[in-house]
Amino acid sequence: MIKQIAPYYDVVVIGGGPAGAVTARYAAENGASVLILERDREVGIPVRCAEGVSVTGISPFIEPDEQWICTMIKGASLHSPDGNFVEMYNNGDGYVLERRIFDRALVDLACSKGATILTKADAIGFTKNNDGEISGVQYRYLGKNYSVNCKIIIGADGIESQVGKWAGINTTIKLEDLETCVQYTVNNIKINPELCRFYFGREVSPGGYLWLFPKSEYSANIGIGICGIETKPNIGPLYYLNKFMEKNFPNASVSYTVGGGVPTKHGTDFVADHVMLVGDAARQVNPITGGGIVQAMIAGRICGETCTKALQANDFSKKFMSEYEKRWDKVLGANQRFMYSVKSSFIKMSDKKFNSIVGAVKSINQDELNLHALFKVALKEEPMLVAKMATSFLASKIKFDW
Ligand SMILES: Cc1cc2nc3c(=O)[nH]c(=O)nc-3n(C[C@H](O)[C@H](O)[C@H](O)COP(=O)(O)OP(=O)(O)OC[C@H]3O[C@@H](n4cnc5c(N)ncnc54)[C@H](O)[C@@H]3O)c2cc1C
Repeated sequence: MIKQIAPYYDVVVIGGGPAGAVTARYAAENGASVLILERDREVGIPVRCAEGVSVTGISPFIEPDEQWICTMIKGASLHSPDGNFVEMYNNGDGYVLERRIFDRALVDLACSKGATILTKADAIGFTKNNDGEISGVQYRYLGKNYSVNCKIIIGADGIESQVGKWAGINTTIKLEDLETCVQYTVNNIKINPELCRFYFGREVSPGGYLWLFPKSEYSANIGIGICGIETKPNIGPLYYLNKFMEKNFPNASVSYTVGGGVPTKHGTDFVADHVMLVGDAARQVNPITGGGIVQAMIAGRICGETCTKALQANDFSKKFMSEYEKRWDKVLGANQRFMYSVKSSFIKMSDKKFNSIVGAVKSINQDELNLHALFKVALKEEPMLVAKMATSFLASKIKFDW
């Protein structure tokens, strides 16, 4: 018999992406009753992601499974505007995921711990009790409105989050702190499947970067993110991406196109009475790489564990649940602030500077080229920023300090 939706759950999670799934899992694992409401008919679809993650980043959360690992990444190449490039290995492995399957696996894991998911369920607001206190979620399912009562609402509803607004949390993003992105998934190309490539420069991707993440020897996610303030009428990310494709992969066939935004200013306010935000909804992405999957999972774990504590204490106040903000800050706050400061300089960087960065890094012997060596040489060759930048792009060495 199909599991019925109950009138009450301890926790209702809005959004079934990585942030929502991991939050649900850790809350359910510790005994909370949890409902995930997902607007789409299936979790993980549509994919709005280049699908790159570090192995060390996701391994604490899920056992590797070849069903969602598309390619194993061994290195990265950095390309400067003058056509020069440097290949870097020895910095830890990465995966290009099959996110349709990965997101589903995370939700399956949450459900195996006791959570329930309802797809095609679009959250449309909160319900309140007679005292005006938040008491549940209203949602639309198959053309009808329903409500479910709960103690805690998790806003895991991604970049376009409404939950923060409903709760009165300021999640506004300035244009300069938003990367506008477009990506093609292409085939009919021939590439090294173990190497991610990054292209920089004002003619290539002003205030951002262009990426190629291999999905096989013959296919890849090729996309671009440019700073919001660099977008002009008819000259946006698609213009730059098409220019790149015509020059580098004129015979590529596009099987999937996706657009989206990435917040590049880290959030700091994630909590209100009865409500916590997590993942892109809380603006928890890495401000310089735009990577948000691992961050969403780290935050999800802390958020899920905070749900347990709040339920045990029967205290759902902003004050009590702000332990989540404090723990997040302890694990990743300093990193996020540092990345943001680097990003602010990065978006103004000249082509000349990009050329000299790649030139400087190229002088390192390939066998010795790891982050440590890069850092030392970059320090000698370039101002401090060079080292900061390279470290930011390649050191996805997230600390786990629970
Ligand atoms: C072009 C692009 C490329 C990217 N590449 C990478 C990359 O290579 N590596 C990386 O780490 N990150 C990347 N990111 C960022 C990454 O995709 C996000 O940081 C990540 O998906 C955040 O997870 P999340 O769970 O917070 O949000 P999401 O994955 O966006 O999930 C939010 C979910 O909430 C649902 N939802 C929204 N509103 C409602 C509602 N009202 N009711 C019910 N459900 C709702 C949505 O349908 C969605 O399923 C990229 C982003 C873009 C745009």
